[in-house]
Amino acid sequence: MFRGLIDLLFPEVCSSCECSLLEGEKVLCTRCRHDLPVCNWKDHQQNFVSDKLKGRVKLNFADALLYFEKGNKTQSLLHDLKYKGQENISRYLGLWHAENLKQMDWSKDIDYIIPVPTHPKRRRERGYNQVEGYAKAIQQVLGCGYSDELLQRKNFSKTQVFKNRLSRTEVIEHNFILNPAEKYFGKHIALTDDLITTGATAEACFIQLSKLKDVRLSLIVMAVAA
Ligand SMILES: [Zn+2]
Repeated sequence: MFRGLIDLLFPEVCSSCECSLLEGEKVLCTRCRHDLPVCNWKDHQQNFVSDKLKGRVKLNFADALLYFEKGNKTQSLLHDLKYKGQENISRYLGLWHAENLKQMDWSKDIDYIIPVPTHPKRRRERGYNQVEGYAKAIQQVLGCGYSDELLQRKNFSKTQVFKNRLSRTEVIEHNFILNPAEKYFGKHIALTDDLITTGATAEACFIQLSKLKDVRLSLIVMAVAA
């Protein structure tokens, strides 16, 4: 009853076009959802995401839900997620992507889902890690493990020291710390992130994760920059 009252006072609107959502619709109206540019690749070993990291990281599988371009609907959706406090977009995209991933044989082999850690400073400002809801939704649907301890981000100020001496990629690499534990050895770990552009952040994470003995690594992202 309480929930019904809240809906009456604050009807849920579509994150994209702000029309009222119908029963059964969440975050986006059906029309906006259909307008989003879905990747739907059949090949998860060689595709647009894996190509971005080719020669830099040994990836087992990679998949993205949406294409990202300047001015497209994906961009405004991710903008709302990151800068407008719309944390629910994260879980929404995770549930959507998870339903697709469930149809893929390789996803059954995933042991752990890991979110890309955010800066402690950014997390404080935003109040949440924008990848967490997405990562947890995928983990729940696939029924595998989840860890936000394995990989952590160093405090921003500490890494400033490196900036004069190291290249940009090296600086990013130094932003992450691995907390290795035996339970991760020989496992299939899928890193999750919101957006892949150059792939520098993912690469830095994978450099750390690949230090785990006999690990297999995959990448699952909300969107990839076209
Ligand atoms: Zn809409």
